Amino acid sequence: MKLRRKLPTVLCIGLTLAIAVNLLLVFYTTGALQSFVLGSLHKELRFPLSELDGAVIQRLSHLEVELQHLEEGMKLALTQQENVENTRKRVKEEGRLVQKAAETTVNEAKKHKPPKQLFPHSQLFKQWGQDLSEAQQRKAQDLFQKFGYNVYLSDQLPLNRTIPDTRDSRCLQKTYSSQLPSLSAILIFTNEALSIIQRAITSIINRTPSWLLKEIILVDDFSSNGELKGFLDEKIKLYNQEYPGLLKIIRHTERKGLAEARNTGWEAASADVVAILDAHIEVNVGWAEPILARIQEDRTVVVSPVFDNVHFDTLQLEKYELAVDGFNWELWCRYDVLPQAWIDLRDATAPVKSPSIMGILAANRLFLGEIGSLDGGMLVYGGENVELSLRVWQCGGRIEILPCSRIAHVERHHKPYALDLSPALRRNALRVAEIWMDEYKHMVYLAWNIPLQNSGIDYGDISSRRALRERLKCKTFDWYLKNVYPLLKPINTIVGYGRMKNSLDESVCLDQGPVPGNTPTMHHCHQFYSQNVYYHLTGELYVGKLIAEENTRDRCLTDPGKGEKPSLESCSKATKNGLFMYWDFKPGEAVINRDTKRCLEIQREASGTYVLVLQTCTTQVWGIQHTVGNWGQTSVREPHQGTPALADRMTSTTSTASTPNATHSGRG
Ligand code: UDP
Ligand code: MN
Repeated sequence: MKLRRKLPTVLCIGLTLAIAVNLLLVFYTTGALQSFVLGSLHKELRFPLSELDGAVIQRLSHLEVELQHLEEGMKLALTQQENVENTRKRVKEEGRLVQKAAETTVNEAKKHKPPKQLFPHSQLFKQWGQDLSEAQQRKAQDLFQKFGYNVYLSDQLPLNRTIPDTRDSRCLQKTYSSQLPSLSAILIFTNEALSIIQRAITSIINRTPSWLLKEIILVDDFSSNGELKGFLDEKIKLYNQEYPGLLKIIRHTERKGLAEARNTGWEAASADVVAILDAHIEVNVGWAEPILARIQEDRTVVVSPVFDNVHFDTLQLEKYELAVDGFNWELWCRYDVLPQAWIDLRDATAPVKSPSIMGILAANRLFLGEIGSLDGGMLVYGGENVELSLRVWQCGGRIEILPCSRIAHVERHHKPYALDLSPALRRNALRVAEIWMDEYKHMVYLAWNIPLQNSGIDYGDISSRRALRERLKCKTFDWYLKNVYPLLKPINTIVGYGRMKNSLDESVCLDQGPVPGNTPTMHHCHQFYSQNVYYHLTGELYVGKLIAEENTRDRCLTDPGKGEKPSLESCSKATKNGLFMYWDFKPGEAVINRDTKRCLEIQREASGTYVLVLQTCTTQVWGIQHTVGNWGQTSVREPHQGTPALADRMTSTTSTASTPNATHSGRG
């Protein structure tokens, strides 16, 4: 600032001096000034000319030097002026840059500030996608709704991504014959995401020895998703350019359900062995060899690989421990403990005998046909895996899990093809019960809380499947329970089941109450299993889901002996500890504890809600929704519906469904 104000003065002096000096130089060089200066000097000073010359020249040189200094000074001033200007510009520029940088930082900060979460309740965003912009969130959520897994992410991941090798290290030491049978891999789908299907195909191509993989058959169970039409056909063409004849696609012209889709794939297959898979899988390294080797060894064995779980949101793989595939009385799949006989083998690679499969399977193609492939009468989803398993075991085959064959299966948050699978599961379960379960079929009715007769549920025509059972001379379900699945425990003492209502108010039902917790409640009647009740002729009163397995976790109503609240205790624990868990009851009568003689009754609280109390009996009576074998008068094995007056009045819903809740969604 200071410099700027002084500058005009310096410039004026400088210019005046410069003009003066230039005039002097002109005169001097023309000689006039020279003779004047030198002459006068000679006269006045009487110096020798040479001396005078030298002095003048010296002074002139000084003048020149000073002039140079002046010039330099001016230059300096100008430079400084320039510098000032430059500095000004620079400061301005720097200011601009700083401002820009600041703006960028703000923008960056804005960028790094987590964007607004548009779907805070969506399961998709619980562990994933926090950095997605709003538009991206919308897209991801849309795809998630449509498919039940993270398609937004799947579309970004490489089709040939690596997944962890989850095999036991001892599997890697296994060697296989060079003469293994050939394989048809079948992928069935209805409205799966294209990238998911492509990743399944890619994994099969990359992780199956090419000389063993004869074909990959895609079965489209009437998808409506547009990208699975022409676009998928294009992709198939591309695959076939690289691997001639490897891929085939068959398209259903109506939705037939997964059992029929699997059958379609099986019919089209031509290799020695078929592996029938879901379309949302990635086979892991070395998956095929153990399957082919085991089926080569025994053509009657139907095998399942071990599943690892690919989370629906992160698509990351979670290793699942080896377990056997079982089911409960709803015929919903569950994992069971490894058999002691297998543990005793001390061979982590040995096949494991299993009561059932989850869905995905591999079998000798011809053997699968001989035993009747899959039951085409199964609709939509569910039950077909148990049906096949019972048929295989009862009709001369075996089911095994192969620890060295592993497949990663994408779990689904929801099924895109059905909002509620219960009707299909229930109907298909009844079909299995009616074809295969003989005198134990009532267990399926009980578990689903369906009346034993006139259920009103159409499970389709089973005559051809019954004829098949005859033709194959299959063993009984009793044989199966005793020899294959002793863990599944039938109960023959149940004489009443369903909703239990008190005469005081029939709009509320006995309910297991909050879980965790062991206080039963009276709750507005609904159709879920928390209100399932099972009364045994032996006196036990189960409340909640019918589990019926060894070391049962079923819960029994007990009288603690003190206080007025009843409680729910594990039935096996209650038996062991001698709790007061036996009740006298008949439809339309009181519920009386056999030991304490107290009655189970209800009491209306000030709030209007009812609570359960144990007290000296008043006049309260109870009804139960369904009865079995005329309350024990006839055998459970020849069930028919009892019709006591109160129970009859209270039989409001006959199709009360228990919604199965899978502990793992690893069903294949
Ligand atoms: N699927 C089918 N038709 C149907 C229902 C399912 O082809 O009507 C296919 C589905 O696309 C999947 C396979 O059957 O590839 C198994 O179904 P899902 O994966 O839903 O069953 P989960 O594995 O959960 O038991
Ligand atoms: Mn699946």
